[in-house]
Amino acid sequence: MKTTIILHSLFSEFSKEQLHGIIDLADKYGASFRVVVTGIQLYNVEAEDKPKILSQLPKGVKQVIHAGVNSITCCRGTDGCSHAFMQTIPLGKALDTKHFGRPLPNKLRIGISGCTRCCAEPMIKDIGLYGLPDGFVLTAGGKSGAHPKGGEILVKGLSPEEAQEKIEYLLDWYEKEAMPKERFTHLLERLGNPFTDK
Ligand code: SF4
Repeated sequence: MKTTIILHSLFSEFSKEQLHGIIDLADKYGASFRVVVTGIQLYNVEAEDKPKILSQLPKGVKQVIHAGVNSITCCRGTDGCSHAFMQTIPLGKALDTKHFGRPLPNKLRIGISGCTRCCAEPMIKDIGLYGLPDGFVLTAGGKSGAHPKGGEILVKGLSPEEAQEKIEYLLDWYEKEAMPKERFTHLLERLGNPFTDK
């Protein structure tokens, strides 16, 4: 039976060494690969080879899990885009380092953009940020799929540090309050904005 493996590295940036390692593994086990929204997907993998591949992943490369934080996407923000109001990369790396792969009731995706053009698609992520001149706007409850939905604004005017605190609060809230397999957007519909009156 064939299966697939999706691979992640910090901030979705793969070093040359990591890419060479992935190519070597694909050659060794007869797999093919392609880029998907959550990372690099190895496909045509024999199911019996999957544990062997996972045990030989290059340093810093992890398997993307389904039920948990499985994607943290950022645009370049003020470190590479003239439109940006906010710096995104240090915040994205901090969240990725601390929370990527954290088990949760269902998949959870985070998108961070430096301005309202929203290149990292924060409005269709479970949790999103976009930058304005006076700070980040925190959104949540967005989703893609067959029935896409835009996220709702929870808080405005956040510094990067405040944005990180709020996102960490939302991850804890989701872990504690969600029913088994409940998506973040459905929890938000059920309980409302957790920052109202806080
Ligand atoms: S979202 Fe804004 S800041 Fe980020 S890459 Fe796009 S245009 Fe630039």
